[in-house]
Amino acid sequence: MPIRYDLLWTVRLTTTAGIALIIMALRGVGPRVYLLTSQSMTIHHIRLKSGEVIDIRETADGPVCPVCGFASAGDPPYGLCRTVLQDGSLGESYGAASFDVCPSCGTEYGNDDYAEGQTVTSMWDQLRIKWLDRAGWSDIALKQLQDHLNLTQEELERGSPDGL
Ligand SMILES: [Zn+2]
Repeated sequence: MPIRYDLLWTVRLTTTAGIALIIMALRGVGPRVYLLTSQSMTIHHIRLKSGEVIDIRETADGPVCPVCGFASAGDPPYGLCRTVLQDGSLGESYGAASFDVCPSCGTEYGNDDYAEGQTVTSMWDQLRIKWLDRAGWSDIALKQLQDHLNLTQEELERGSPDGL
């Protein structure tokens, strides 16, 4: 499928949090229905000048840090910028870092997640492990990653020092 990289497109999805769980009570009281809150998530696919395409997620609380999964109001970590050509006309759009600092993990987008010869996504993976090490791989930190970055248990265990 040809992808129009010059366009920002979004994917709306409803996380599994929106699934209604039906749990049968074990002691004959009858079925009980637990409804979990539905959480809407928008995913922006953004092409960087390097050609790498990154995903920036957004919840109702605001854009999500791709390193630690923290959602906060404000500018997204990366947004699209139009290049201006010499004749003043607008050229292609590229993803550009906001250079904001995440209040949760302290990552400065465009600085901490930039390294020559490395993809931004791989830098996020490395920064995420460093942050988890600092956070002690706590349940709250892991839940934030699962809820907001859709990281699976398996993906999280891959970076864990001794498994979870
Ligand atoms: Zn963060």
